[in-house]
Amino acid sequence: MNTIAPVFLKDLLRPYLDETAVLHKHLCPRQVLGVRIGLRGLRALGLIDATYQSRFDNRRKRLLTIVETDGCGADGIAVATDCHVGRRTMRVLDYGKVAATLVDTKTGQAVRVWPRADVRQLAKTIAPEARSRWHAYLEAYQIIPDDDLLNLQPVELTQSLAEILSRPNLRVNCEQCGEEILNEREVERDGRVLCQPCAGSGYYSNKTDDI
Ligand SMILES: [Zn+2]
Ligand SMILES: [Zn+2]
Repeated sequence: MNTIAPVFLKDLLRPYLDETAVLHKHLCPRQVLGVRIGLRGLRALGLIDATYQSRFDNRRKRLLTIVETDGCGADGIAVATDCHVGRRTMRVLDYGKVAATLVDTKTGQAVRVWPRADVRQLAKTIAPEARSRWHAYLEAYQIIPDDDLLNLQPVELTQSLAEILSRPNLRVNCEQCGEEILNEREVERDGRVLCQPCAGSGYYSNKTDDI
């Protein structure tokens, strides 16, 4: 499976890395890792070939990507998968992990991809002449073969795809605060339709004093 020579691999990654560097204003190791994670998942789902030649086009929203942290890694994953928060094809579940699950919504197949625990060590041995550890990671993540860099596991989602995707643009108003709720994200409590904060699972509470 890993027949791609390191130098060739670097060339294949180049367009993805250039794009994520523009998006992010610089290129850093985690973006590279993100690109590799996205491409690995796409390959496992059979949505891209082994040489990443033709880029995956997700305008039809076939792929859903759930990323497990925000930041640089997520940018790399977005570029590789063509999944974006604004298109409702990317969800961020902040576990603080540079990892992602790619879901083919057409087949229901899902794979989770994450870096192997020893990649930092491996990077230092692969790029010993690097100026710093950061530079070693940046270089090594572009040349380490997939199987040495990443783990991959088929997974089953704990929530149904229909629930996760939900029906876009459906609107109701919260019976308590009156605010509009999109995409079936309302909950029912004692026969009332409420937004999640009013139902007690908000990330904030209102302060009583004025600003
Ligand atoms: Zn960065
Ligand atoms: Zn409410």
